[in-house]
Amino acid sequence: MNWKVPLADLDIGTDEILAVQKVLESRWLTMGSVTQQFEQEFAKKIGARHAFAVTNGTAALHLACLALGLGPGDEVIVPSLTFVASANAIRYTSATPVFAEIVSPKDLNISPVAVEKRINPRTRAIMVVHYGGYACDMTAIQTIAERHNLKIIEDAAHAVGGELEGTALGCWGEIGCFSFFSNKNMTTGEGGMVVTNDDELADRLRLLRSHGMTTLTWDRHQGRAIDYDVVMLGYNYRLDEIRSAIGLVQLNKLEKNNEQRRKLTRHYHSMLKKTLPQVETPFENYRGKTSAHLLPILLPQAANRRKIIEFLKSRGIQTSIHYPPVHQFSIYQPDTRPNNPALPITEEVGQRELTLPLYPAMTGEDVALVVNTLGEALEAFK
Ligand SMILES: *Cc1c(COP(=O)(O)O)cnc(C)c1O
Repeated sequence: MNWKVPLADLDIGTDEILAVQKVLESRWLTMGSVTQQFEQEFAKKIGARHAFAVTNGTAALHLACLALGLGPGDEVIVPSLTFVASANAIRYTSATPVFAEIVSPKDLNISPVAVEKRINPRTRAIMVVHYGGYACDMTAIQTIAERHNLKIIEDAAHAVGGELEGTALGCWGEIGCFSFFSNKNMTTGEGGMVVTNDDELADRLRLLRSHGMTTLTWDRHQGRAIDYDVVMLGYNYRLDEIRSAIGLVQLNKLEKNNEQRRKLTRHYHSMLKKTLPQVETPFENYRGKTSAHLLPILLPQAANRRKIIEFLKSRGIQTSIHYPPVHQFSIYQPDTRPNNPALPITEEVGQRELTLPLYPAMTGEDVALVVNTLGEALEAFK
């Protein structure tokens, strides 16, 4: 499909190509100096003590759950309005995701009040998701976590470069997880990063990422180690040098590209308010600094979303839905009944939400085209 305005678009150029070429010519392709540099620069950028590059964001979430020692019988509170990977990662450890409601149609993040209602003696952790790059109410979440002795995992897949009260998103909880999937604010194709300020958790994350082995191929290659022990059941969730090289270049573009996303978001919001007041725009007010990963809108109750998506598609405009609520998927039905109550706000938003195109290279004319075409679609299918 040749979109006139795609949902997302990459900012990949000569610098990434040259960085990859350099790695290939070095003949050392995985877990070497480039990956170490990527981890160090990422950690520095967001102000984390430790950062570990991993194969993808889902692996980052899985490692976070493992490092916190989650297992059968443990419960983790998580929003349902998220990508399914958030909840799946909890289940990989045989722990149970317990879904909590979002705040409101204006704030699509997990509600601290709803979180507190779902706490019971089995609850071990809260997994927050900064929807679209907009910060959850971390002060309230932290207070609840402290009161009930719970750990916080941040799914910061949307939120790279976001901040709240001077602390990067991903650095508020015990462990923060990032994704560099190809539609995220910075990409390595597939890739992710898991960060922590806790030295003990860092030791566990390091081991779990690479088979539970006490030394790495790179250490042995450099003559620093001869043998190794295996001290826990680890995985191979390593990132390679090729992707790390791309990540280093992308990291340098992040701030500029996020600023562009914020500017386009303001433009969308003011145009929508002026020309389509019947459309709701979540996160018009938000905490801290957003990474503006997504541009979610809520269509009027009566609008036919499927037809509107088809209309926009026929005009070359790509849209998406973030998200079909996780608790309504078939494989989550047994988890959610009967012990999980309904999530009316999540379900309503799940039915009315539409994500409009947003990427740094978009122009003001592109935004106007999307908004005007949406206006035509709303007129046609109201
Ligand atoms: C993209 C995403 C993930 C998973 O990341 P991958 O790198 O695709 O594995 C997890 N959670 C959320 C909210 C995401 O958007």
